[in-house]
Amino acid sequence: MTGERAVSPEAVDRLYKKLFDEAEKAGYHLGPDVEFTKELVRGLIVNEERYGYRACPCRLASGNRRDDLDIICPCDYRDSDLAEFDACYCGLYVSERIVKGEKDLQPIPERRPPEEERALAEIDAARQKPSAGLSLPVWRCKVCGYLCAREEPPGVCPICKADKDRFERFM
Ligand code: SF4
Repeated sequence: MTGERAVSPEAVDRLYKKLFDEAEKAGYHLGPDVEFTKELVRGLIVNEERYGYRACPCRLASGNRRDDLDIICPCDYRDSDLAEFDACYCGLYVSERIVKGEKDLQPIPERRPPEEERALAEIDAARQKPSAGLSLPVWRCKVCGYLCAREEPPGVCPICKADKDRFERFM
């Protein structure tokens, strides 16, 4: 692409290995078609260089991190898609059934709500009052569901490694 630095195969291999190891440790799996999966990894690197974060390689990012938070990989929709369709929208993450060849990768419908719905959900979330009786707020990682009670969300989710801004106030 014009003006875009080519991504080296070594950079793709490095990130592929990192994501593979992290996924396996956390009970997730990358797609078994390594060439296809590495193409998605390449897309993540391109997006990271373009926007400063790893926006989903199969979706159109706005370039504004705040607006794209839900589609920074792994996106907020990965786990629901894995549960329902055995793969995330792109097919980067797949279920054990797909890894074992018991099921083929199929096209996944887009779960991300339209922009207006996302904006309304954000307003609703901001309106939520903290629950009485709790000495600390409870934060939920929107990627993996990890919960913690502390003044601030952690810098990085200890389970899925999502950044602090992927947490929402839960209680
Ligand atoms: S986990 Fe979500 S953001 Fe990452 S590749 Fe899959 S669909 Fe895209």
